[in-house]
Amino acid sequence: MDTKLLIDGEFTEGTGQAEAILNPRTGARILGLAEASVDQVEAAVAGAVAAFGGWSRTTPAERAAALLRIADRIEAEATELGTLEALNCGKPINAAIGDEVPAIIDTYRYFAGAVRNMHGPLAGEYLAGHTSMIRRDPIGVVASVAPWNYPAMMMAWKLAPALAGGNTVVFKPSEQTPLTALKLARILAEELPRGVINIVTGRGETVGNALVNHPGIDMISLTGDVATGKKMLQAAAKSVKRTHLELGGKAPVIVFDDADIGQVVDGLRAFGYYNAGQDCTAACRVYVAEKVYDRLVADLTGAVESIAYARDDDSTNEIGPLISARQRDRVASFVERARDLKHVEITTGGKTHGTGGFYYMPTVIAGARQEDEIVRREVFGPVVSLTPFREVDQAVDWANDSEYGLASSVWTRDIGRAMETSARLRYGCTWVNTHFMLVNEMPHGGLKASGYGKDMSMYALEDYTAVRHVMIRH
Ligand code: NAD
Repeated sequence: MDTKLLIDGEFTEGTGQAEAILNPRTGARILGLAEASVDQVEAAVAGAVAAFGGWSRTTPAERAAALLRIADRIEAEATELGTLEALNCGKPINAAIGDEVPAIIDTYRYFAGAVRNMHGPLAGEYLAGHTSMIRRDPIGVVASVAPWNYPAMMMAWKLAPALAGGNTVVFKPSEQTPLTALKLARILAEELPRGVINIVTGRGETVGNALVNHPGIDMISLTGDVATGKKMLQAAAKSVKRTHLELGGKAPVIVFDDADIGQVVDGLRAFGYYNAGQDCTAACRVYVAEKVYDRLVADLTGAVESIAYARDDDSTNEIGPLISARQRDRVASFVERARDLKHVEITTGGKTHGTGGFYYMPTVIAGARQEDEIVRREVFGPVVSLTPFREVDQAVDWANDSEYGLASSVWTRDIGRAMETSARLRYGCTWVNTHFMLVNEMPHGGLKASGYGKDMSMYALEDYTAVRHVMIRH
């Protein structure tokens, strides 16, 4: 297993405190990994600073070629990469290899094409005797900090547009899930010039903190918690660094009485519980028209009872455990507090599962009210709440009444109602009659406390480049 950090082109063991990396399916230790020391963070930033001059002057075609080679190498090692991700995160093997790795490869390929196709305003004589033109140039050294829910995919979302844009990067995976980043380090080191990408592992409060506060960093890119995002803004304020923040979510799902209830049940079963609900877009906060509410509660309860998890034959599992005992206990405590409410009914699940791993049963919470904690706070677990509504306005107001603004969905057969409701929702994405589906050509990112800046799409390439004006006197 690859355990070395990548610092200025060299592979080296961390010299900081050792952290145990656990298998969430069993709770067993996979290995101990020493995190980067402050000196190693320094060296990584210095490497990225030194590499910037050369990399930022490569052509888009040269950078695209490197990204395409990286994609090909990942494809050649797809099974090993997916297997390692499954081991470190507890993901079902088929989800890791079949869903995530192809999406990761596509991200590198998309940005290889995108960077060769950037367009902008026309050059022209906006002042007589002068020609103005707009450039999009790299920002500099990016500190990229990733979460544990999709480690290699978040790495791709951050690295591909940053590298395509001509930046150099110091990347820090989550201290809980560093293994695929360390494996990919070898491919990245072989396909990119020295220092263009550096990988340091370790905890947020030590390694992450040293990295984002470093004066050599020009931009901080975080996918993580809202509280962590606020710390990034404090770090950025000291030297006015750019920030790109993808923070949490609490996605509302509005189900109208004319919706295809079978389709809604299938959708919630899939998109509310995928990755054990550890997804910032999870379809977790459902508002249902009163007329179809009882039927949806009954049908969803039955469907969720059939979700396969914790089976010995992992190839048959649909969801895995939570990432850690701490996360499982956090989910359990949300459900316990909801259970204490008289108006709430837990129609299935509501318990931890087994003793070894970090499993929590897929759970449906019926009768939740808008003011309940389970409706308002991000649980990040396999828990979906249902709340009946009477009027469209009430559903839209409740959906928008959240500190978060990442993802939402509307379920109806009436196209006018779908369009009108979508227009009123204050979320970075609204799906109609589906949820959760992402494509590299389209942006992903939030409003409000879910952060700002887009992953995926041309908009990400814009975020990782700076607009500059060059004016020439004739
Ligand atoms: P987290 O905020 O605890 O950690 C994210 C990363 O930040 C980790 O690498 C961590 O080490 C680092 N970090 C923590 N404190 C830091 C500090 N003071 N300085 C520098 N780095 C620091 O989040 P998590 O628990 O790993 O991930 C779950 C959260 O991420 C959820 O809230 C989820 O909604 C969010 N998330 C959002 C998106 C999105 O696209 N909006 C995607 C995935 C996850």
